[in-house]
Amino acid sequence: MSESAKDKTERQAIEQIRLRGDQLNASSLSTSLMSGDRTALAQAITLLESTNAVHQEMAAEIIQNCLPHSGHSLRIGITGVPGVGKSTFIDVLGMHLISVGKMVAVLAIDPTSPLSKGSILGDKTRMDQLAAASDAFIRPSPAAETLGGVARKTRESIILCEAAGFDLILVETVGVGQSEIAVHRMTDFFLLLMLAGAGDHLQGIKRGIMEMCDAMVITKADGTNVKAANFARAEYSGALHLFPAKESGWRAPVITSSAIEKMGLKEVWELILKHEQWMKERNLFQIHRQSQDVQWMHDTIKEALITDYYSSEENKLRLSKIESELNAGKITAFEAAKMALAQR
Ligand code: GDP
Repeated sequence: MSESAKDKTERQAIEQIRLRGDQLNASSLSTSLMSGDRTALAQAITLLESTNAVHQEMAAEIIQNCLPHSGHSLRIGITGVPGVGKSTFIDVLGMHLISVGKMVAVLAIDPTSPLSKGSILGDKTRMDQLAAASDAFIRPSPAAETLGGVARKTRESIILCEAAGFDLILVETVGVGQSEIAVHRMTDFFLLLMLAGAGDHLQGIKRGIMEMCDAMVITKADGTNVKAANFARAEYSGALHLFPAKESGWRAPVITSSAIEKMGLKEVWELILKHEQWMKERNLFQIHRQSQDVQWMHDTIKEALITDYYSSEENKLRLSKIESELNAGKITAFEAAKMALAQR
């Protein structure tokens, strides 16, 4: 598939910033970004993903500038195992949202990034229609060493996208590990996509993830799969009812959808709006975001402490000695950990 004009502009913007990143000015970039300039948005995200200290300083300044202009979007997390139909679904859902007047940004958290250079959204042409739409912005998962690092960058990208005028942010992740917890913690609504006819154990979806979702969508409900999809909907509805209701009292509905037949998209959007209203009527929408912020503060502290500890040359040396003692059976793992921490 050939590169779209929009992709090309973004790629050129990214190349440009790689070449002369430190000559750019954070303040003018913030102004352009907030006036809705996509190239500036792409450049700002590139800066925050960069490990270069100058870039990081600029990114921090841009985020500070953007923060007062953020927070006005609906943030939607979308997860499901590879092959469930996430990118096809996001492509058509995104187009539906644009048709009702929304500006849609799609971000991704891909825990496999460091190895595979991003298996989700890595190839932007997976979302053909959205990639070509002027009211959409697609950004693949940042490549960072840790899930915490990737999640932080995605979270900051949400702020930038909101400041650039996007009112719906879709955050995609693969439903196989810890990344969906990270996405759940940065979104207002969490959608779980499931296949019909493959028990949840086969789909690798943990009970905890089913418990977290605000709605479930059985994908590919078309052709010969319709019957199985309806059956799965009934089965998963029953299963979800066995979980305790969420604190808000919201119970996750299950619907069927076909991206190919563009079926179920209106229903998903209506559910998202209904959930937003449900939360706002109970004053829970803002409280939920505030508790996410507190959680993120703690996560950031933990991440910083771990990085600090393991990057210290002194600690590395001590750890290798303690590991030898542990390997020789002289101490237990617990004692070893105590020694390692006591010597900080
Ligand atoms: P992802 O890995 O979860 O992003 O899944 P994809 O969106 O790449 O879809 C995986 C496969 O399922 C592709 O071959 C799609 O063409 C197919 N697919 C996606 N959505 C539908 C649908 O609504 N109906 C049918 N029949 N196939 C679909």
